[in-house]
Amino acid sequence: MSGLSRRQFIGGSTAATVAASLTNVGVPEPERGNAGGTIPGPINNPIDRENPDLLVPPNTDAGLLPNLKYSMSDAHMHLLDGGWARQVNEQQLPIATTLTGVEMRLEPGAIRELHWHLQSEWAIMLDGRAQVTAVDDHGRNFIGDVGVGDLWMFPAGYPHSIQAFSEGCEFLLVFDAGNFNEFDTFMVTDWFNHTPPSVLAKDFGVPQSAFAKVPPESARYIFPGKVPPPASANAVRSPAGPVPQSFTHRLMAQTPITTSGGSVRIVDSSNFPPATTIAAALVEVKPGGMRELHWHPNADEWQYYIAGKGRMTVFAAEGLANTFDYQAGDVGYIPFPMGHYIENTGNETLRFLEMFRSSYYADVSLDTWLALTPPAMVRATLNVDQGLISKLRKQEAPVVE
Ligand code: MN
Ligand code: MN
Repeated sequence: MSGLSRRQFIGGSTAATVAASLTNVGVPEPERGNAGGTIPGPINNPIDRENPDLLVPPNTDAGLLPNLKYSMSDAHMHLLDGGWARQVNEQQLPIATTLTGVEMRLEPGAIRELHWHLQSEWAIMLDGRAQVTAVDDHGRNFIGDVGVGDLWMFPAGYPHSIQAFSEGCEFLLVFDAGNFNEFDTFMVTDWFNHTPPSVLAKDFGVPQSAFAKVPPESARYIFPGKVPPPASANAVRSPAGPVPQSFTHRLMAQTPITTSGGSVRIVDSSNFPPATTIAAALVEVKPGGMRELHWHPNADEWQYYIAGKGRMTVFAAEGLANTFDYQAGDVGYIPFPMGHYIENTGNETLRFLEMFRSSYYADVSLDTWLALTPPAMVRATLNVDQGLISKLRKQEAPVVE
């Protein structure tokens, strides 16, 4: 396990501290200089306070982009004996056609039923610890224990399970399709329920009575269980051996790219081989810092905010630009290949995931692009002096102050 605590990872944004901060904020009004006016009609102050750049957009904003934000708190909760799950897919956030996010909670010992699905599954542990199992199409198996900040990746179609250890757990799942539905996966008890008992008896070589107590359809999915022993004591030996490459990854054990403003950890198929369809960057931005102006030349960006608060302006060409505010628990999205920055607007570390449906992570820095272009061209285009030219960074600094 990584040894990281939830407190270190998610920060201080508990329900209590969020509630306390709300009481200290005045009622915002949509006014900027002489523009705008007060709101005498109906108002939802908590939502306005969370979206100051929607209520009073910077005057550099122009036109209307599709919605690029959806909070997990606006998603329908599925409550089950043993935990809960909620998801944001293209039903909630229609622009998000490449990836789907699911938050899931498992109480101590609780199990996410043995299942598989059409899409590949990437995950990061947010709180607590769990044991994951999987079997591949060569009869090779995998079992691993994961803690806060650890990842797992199950390629499409591979059957798997998740079970919480004694402290319980919460994790984020990310699937490589915008139309994935967590509540419509291939579950083992459902298949048993929809197979004639005579066929089950023939398949397993036992009497039909062996299946008399299989739970009814949909009774499992998430259900209570007994805390498992560690993977080392719970592994089943396969005659074909284990899977050749681990399905788990210690993201926080990676040495980050560190700059004065924060850090970035990049994980894709180059350092986590099973991640052939999902690339990610865990970005940490100090208070006052900013993920620099950049874009991605290979895919849409799907974001998940783990800690802190930030704002992002998305530049969509054709004079279009809109600014959105995000906080822990929000999903953000940037269509390919629109320019953007993410500025820490809070007083704690901003921590978020940039996720891509791609085998590799890639970005282009505005600053580095200009630094590597003949200065006369940059000066002629932007009408800037040598002061800016001499500050351009030939090597990318993904997080600045
Ligand atoms: Mn799954
Ligand atoms: Mn980005």
